[in-house]
Amino acid sequence: MSTCKACCENNGSEKKRLRIAIQKSGRLTDETLKLFKDSGIKISSNRDHLLAHAENLPIDILRVRDDDIPGLVMDHVVDWGIVGQNVLEETTMQRDLDGMYTGFNEVLKLNFGDCRLSVAVPMEEEWHGLSDLEGKKIATTYPHLLRRVMKNAGVNFRSVLLTGSVEVAPRAGLADAICDLVCTGATLQSNGLKEVETIYTSKAVLIGRDQPLFPEKQAIADMIIERFKGVMSAVESRYIMMNAPKAKLEQIRAILPGAENPSIIELEGSSDRVALHVVSREKVFWETLEQLKALGATSILVVPIEKMLG
Ligand code: ATP
Ligand code: ZN
Repeated sequence: MSTCKACCENNGSEKKRLRIAIQKSGRLTDETLKLFKDSGIKISSNRDHLLAHAENLPIDILRVRDDDIPGLVMDHVVDWGIVGQNVLEETTMQRDLDGMYTGFNEVLKLNFGDCRLSVAVPMEEEWHGLSDLEGKKIATTYPHLLRRVMKNAGVNFRSVLLTGSVEVAPRAGLADAICDLVCTGATLQSNGLKEVETIYTSKAVLIGRDQPLFPEKQAIADMIIERFKGVMSAVESRYIMMNAPKAKLEQIRAILPGAENPSIIELEGSSDRVALHVVSREKVFWETLEQLKALGATSILVVPIEKMLG
């Protein structure tokens, strides 16, 4: 662990520097660091340090295992954390059982970390529904999420807690089925399993401690939230430019996906054609461009947007 006398010790940094816990190394790490970078938060790249300071903003980054992130927020050790909803809910249920504090605020849903928690059984088995698992052993890292679903379905089962390699449990004779995170399903297939029921869908979220922040910190937090939102909406957005016949403007506007009011600019030397510029909040497909061309639009340009505010 590295500490730094300038700002980690008790000299008021608690009031000023926003402390964010992120996954040290795993499936959320690259996207989290990219979100920070795109939002103008510069962090030193030494991944071995537990604590990193942003070079240009009063922000400290704590790099930990994802399982520790909800607890760090709920215990008010950090101000914010970025974690999958699956880990957040599972930890909340465990802490509830342990009589620990579970308060937090969901600050923002993020646009990465999408996955689902699914039940899978050996490929050759018939499947009629969750009741097929009555009295069976199910290997999982998420016993509480699984138990909640099975309780609602009225099915009794035994859970086998595994924190890794869950997908090999049936072949190893440790369990009859598994309940694990799935993204593409390729891992299941290569282990002779088939996905039969999705019990939870998850994405990454930004959570915060459920206490007011010191005003200086709140101001930083508000600014960063706006930047995160700006980065996420810019991902899908495009700036579209074209020259178009005045007579077809209504039809052209109708087919532009998720577009705001366009700017219409006169074209020199042309009375029946104008330039049209617009921000589209959705992806623009080739089909749309072909329809625009068919309506007489020319010089159609679709440009990615790097940053967007407001
Ligand atoms: P750690 O060492 O931090 O405990 P881990 O092995 O528990 O890491 P990862 O596999 O890195 O966790 O996954 C972190 C989170 O990423 C998951 O809890 C989930 O929310 C999300 N995730 C996104 N896609 C996937 C996927 N294809 N498979 C598993 N998790 C995914
Ligand atoms: Zn983990």
